[in-house]
Amino acid sequence: MQILTLFIMFNLRYLFPFLGFMLTLSVLTAQDSSEAEDFSLLLKAMLAESSMESDLYELCDQIGGRVTGSEANNLSVEWAYEKMSATGVKTIKDPFEMPSLWLAESTSMNIHSDQIPSFRVNAVSKYQTPAGNYKAKLTYLGAGTDEDFKENTQDLSESFVFVDADICLDINGLFKEYTDAAIAEINARKRGAKGIIFMSSRPNKLLYRFITTKTSDNKLPQFVMAREDAKRCIRLIEDNLSLNVSIDCKATQGETFISENVIAEIKGSVYPEEVIIIGAHLDSWALGTGANDNACNVSMMIDIARQMKKLNIKPKRTIRFALWNGEEQGYFGSWHYTKTHQDELDNHKMALSVDIGSGDIIGFFTNGRDDLIPFVDQCLASVDSIGNYLNINNPIVGTDNFDFMLEGVPNLVAIHKPASYGLNYHASSDTYDKVDLVALNKNSAIVAALVLSWANADKTRLDTFKRQSRSEIQSMFEKHDLEFTMRMFNVWEPWINGSRGIE
Ligand SMILES: [Zn+2]
Repeated sequence: MQILTLFIMFNLRYLFPFLGFMLTLSVLTAQDSSEAEDFSLLLKAMLAESSMESDLYELCDQIGGRVTGSEANNLSVEWAYEKMSATGVKTIKDPFEMPSLWLAESTSMNIHSDQIPSFRVNAVSKYQTPAGNYKAKLTYLGAGTDEDFKENTQDLSESFVFVDADICLDINGLFKEYTDAAIAEINARKRGAKGIIFMSSRPNKLLYRFITTKTSDNKLPQFVMAREDAKRCIRLIEDNLSLNVSIDCKATQGETFISENVIAEIKGSVYPEEVIIIGAHLDSWALGTGANDNACNVSMMIDIARQMKKLNIKPKRTIRFALWNGEEQGYFGSWHYTKTHQDELDNHKMALSVDIGSGDIIGFFTNGRDDLIPFVDQCLASVDSIGNYLNINNPIVGTDNFDFMLEGVPNLVAIHKPASYGLNYHASSDTYDKVDLVALNKNSAIVAALVLSWANADKTRLDTFKRQSRSEIQSMFEKHDLEFTMRMFNVWEPWINGSRGIE
C-alpha cells in the first residue's frame, strides 16, 4: 500500500507539475478570489493527498462483496457511516425497504447424455433465480433472437433454453449483451420454457451476475454458464448429441427487509435550501468484491467530503454525499430518496452519479438535457489541464441518476474511458487490483471541481435549469427511443403507471 501511494504521488507530480498554478489562473477569471482559492486548494488536495486507496482496500478486501441484505453489506453501511462521520460532515443512515431478499449461495450444474459421460460445468444463477433442483433438456437456440425462436417450433416446456453470446470487451458490448439477453428472455417466457442458460460473454471461465428483465419479480430460473463450457455443449449439440442439464441452485430467499443509504451533507452558506447531490452505490454483487463497481467511487465521495471539510470550504449551496444501497437490484436506495424528498426536489439543482469504474473521466452524460451541456463545459474549464471532456446528451438507464431523471431534476453520470470496467463488470474478477488508482485520483479532482462549481454557481444561471415536467420527460424518452431499454430494467411500467417519477 505504501509503495503504491508513493508511486501515485510521484506520477501526479511528474505529470502535472504546474497544475496548481494553472488551476488558479483558470478559475480566477470566473470567481471571486476566495472562491478561486477554495477551488485551487481543493483540487490540489484531491490530487496530492488521499486516503482513497486505503478506504478502497478496506471496503473491497476487508469487507468484500456487498449484496444488499447480506452481512457484508450491513458492515459496509456501518463502515461508510463511520468514515463519513470521521470527515466531520453531518452524516445519517437513511433506512428504506427492499422488496425481497435474495442471496446466492451456490450453483452446481451437470450435463448428461446417453452417449457420453456426464460432466460438470461452471455456472452461476442470475438475480432472483429461485433456489431448487432443476432437470431439463438443453435446447440450443443460437443467440436467442426472434428468428431463432421462430425457427424452433418444438415444445419448450421441459427445456432450458440455451443461448450463446458475443464476446464482451467494453461498455458497448455490455449494452448489447443486456439487449440480446432481454430479447431471449422475453421469447423464452412467451414460449413457456422451463428456464434459460446464457453463455458467458467473457473468456477464461469468467462468471458474473446479472439481473433479469423482471428484476426483483423474477421467478424464471436463469443462469450464466462459463464460455468454454458452453462452447463444448454447443459442439456436442451440433454433433447431434442430445443433452440434459441438472442443476442444484442454493440461495437464501426472504420477504421484504430494511436496507440503508448513508447520506452526508455540507450545508450551503448562501442558499442552504438548494441541494447538489452526488453519489455512488455502496452495494455490489459478490462474485468479486465490487471494486470498480462501485467501491472506487464510494471512496471518491468520502474523500471529496473529507477534503472539503478539512479545507473548511463553505459552498453557497448544500452539497449532499449519497452512498446508495440496493442499486444493483433496481436503484432502490436512490428511488427511496426521491420519494421521501418530494417537497425538496424543486430545489435539487443537480444529481450526479459516478458508477462506471475508475477509467479516466472524459465527460458527463447530461441525460436528455441539452441545456446543461454548455454549463458542464464551463464547470470543467477549471480542470481542463488534467483531461479532455466531451459531454454527451444521452439518457442513462441503469444507475442512481435514474429516479432523478424521472423526477425531472438535472442529472449527470460521469463518462469514463473503458479501462477494465466492461471485462470485469459484475464478475469474480472485479477486485481491488483492477482499479486504476492514478485515474481515480484525477477523477476525484474532476468531480470535486464540477460539484463545487455547481454549488457556487450564479443563481440566475442555475435557475435557468428548470425541473422538467412529466410530458417533457416522456417526449425525451420518445426522442431517445428508451422504452425497450427501460423495459429491460423493469422500469418502464412503473413510469407509465405513475408509481415511479414526477406526477
Ligand atoms: Zn454500479
